[in-house]
Amino acid sequence: MGSQEVSTVDWQGKHVTVAGLGVSGIPAARALHERGALVTVVNDGNDERARAQAAELEALGITVRLGDGATLPPSTELVVTAPGWQPDKPLFLAAAEAGVPVWGDVELAWRLRGDNGKKAAPWLAVTGTNGKTTTVRMLASILEAAGLRTAAVGNIGVSLLDAVLGETEYDVLAVELSSYQLHWAPSLRAHSATVLNLAPDHLDWHGSMEAYAADKGRVYEGNTVACVYNVADPATEDLVREADVEEGCRAIGFTLGAPGPSQLGVVDGILVDRAFVANRQKQAQELAEVTDVNPPAPHNIANALAAAALARAFGVEPAAVRDGLRAFRPDAHRIEHVADIGEVAYVDDSKATNTHATEASLAAYDSIVWIAGGLAKGATFDELVTGAAKRLRGVVLMGADRALIHEALTRHAPEVPVVDLERTDTGAMSEAVARAAELARPGDTVLLAPACASMDMFTNYNKRGEAFADAVRARADESA
Ligand code: ADP
Repeated sequence: MGSQEVSTVDWQGKHVTVAGLGVSGIPAARALHERGALVTVVNDGNDERARAQAAELEALGITVRLGDGATLPPSTELVVTAPGWQPDKPLFLAAAEAGVPVWGDVELAWRLRGDNGKKAAPWLAVTGTNGKTTTVRMLASILEAAGLRTAAVGNIGVSLLDAVLGETEYDVLAVELSSYQLHWAPSLRAHSATVLNLAPDHLDWHGSMEAYAADKGRVYEGNTVACVYNVADPATEDLVREADVEEGCRAIGFTLGAPGPSQLGVVDGILVDRAFVANRQKQAQELAEVTDVNPPAPHNIANALAAAALARAFGVEPAAVRDGLRAFRPDAHRIEHVADIGEVAYVDDSKATNTHATEASLAAYDSIVWIAGGLAKGATFDELVTGAAKRLRGVVLMGADRALIHEALTRHAPEVPVVDLERTDTGAMSEAVARAAELARPGDTVLLAPACASMDMFTNYNKRGEAFADAVRARADESA
């Protein structure tokens, strides 16, 4: 059977265990129950919320077992798990021992696509350590500009199962996949896919960098038209080489430099395509200008090239790439320009929650007052600080693990002034912004790119970004 064809499963009377009540478990349990499967949901927690959710499912005739997500119900023929459940959980060890397959939410959506009589739209898939959401949304914008019926779905907050089983017809889906989701998606076969970049992340879950990379690499398995890799990140090209793809599927690189044959890249401020043209030895097709990318920071141009490559692999015309990139607006707290005050720009990249993202962010500006700190999640900062030292006008540190960053600055950039904020109350961000403003000179950028998670001081990165933006706007109003 061709990899893009729909496979059908006879669900009638099949014993399926759904692991985890929650955003993916509940719709999965319902969808399987509707198809005649005998569903048991198992869940570790047994709090009030879980009991209410369980009652709703039980009213439909679904069995729910609360307070024990570890033991495999005896007659289980298939486990469908929430993507976040760690692979070494006893439930999965028991499944492996019993020869019972385990699918994640993405695998289930892939298997159920087309079974409601709707056209099974092909998937263009995006994974990577950083830039997934941005790239998937750029891709959807380009596909829309080409007049295609599409949506940005997956790890981005819109469930694949809803997209696949809902009534809306799609021509193609722009799919964001996390490494967890890929781990549990053995038969997924995308039309084309990209791994944007690979840096250590979530290693506690995957067990090792090799296992993390291998799970990311699954996105290339069975691709039919293009495996898109990052020329600057050879590990992504290695994954393409290792993948088993359909005959005729091509490896396509993206680069911030001039593209070689079968690559997309940048020449004199123009995004160009030397892959999807009639003669790639001699010909290059102009797609858009760098200034069409919002914001035109280097890593974001890379994201735009990856999105363009996937769209071009799907047959989208160059003009739609340009129109789609122009229409794209970044999500909040991702290199978001908040205000200019006295020739100093204030930029919110609160979403830079790891060093790899912050490295990209710091590379986008020439002279920076950097606001950083929070929960380091085991990261080290030497490389980050070494790379950025020359561009740092000053640094304001806050949050639980700020000493780790301070030590790295002392080692590698001792001449850079550092303000160390001890306070963690709600006014802390205002003070951070005020101290950053004191350090800044005309032409500088004050950049919130914490390289850390936010939960020591804020509910999440959104709240941290909002606190920054509020503080900046208050100063802008004062100085107006
Ligand atoms: P993800 O969905 O993978 O978390 P986002 O698009 O939400 O990615 O971006 C997350 C953070 O990563 C942003 O703060 C941004 O600065 C940074 N980032 C975005 N694209 C890249 C990239 N290609 N390389 C490195 N960092 C990036």
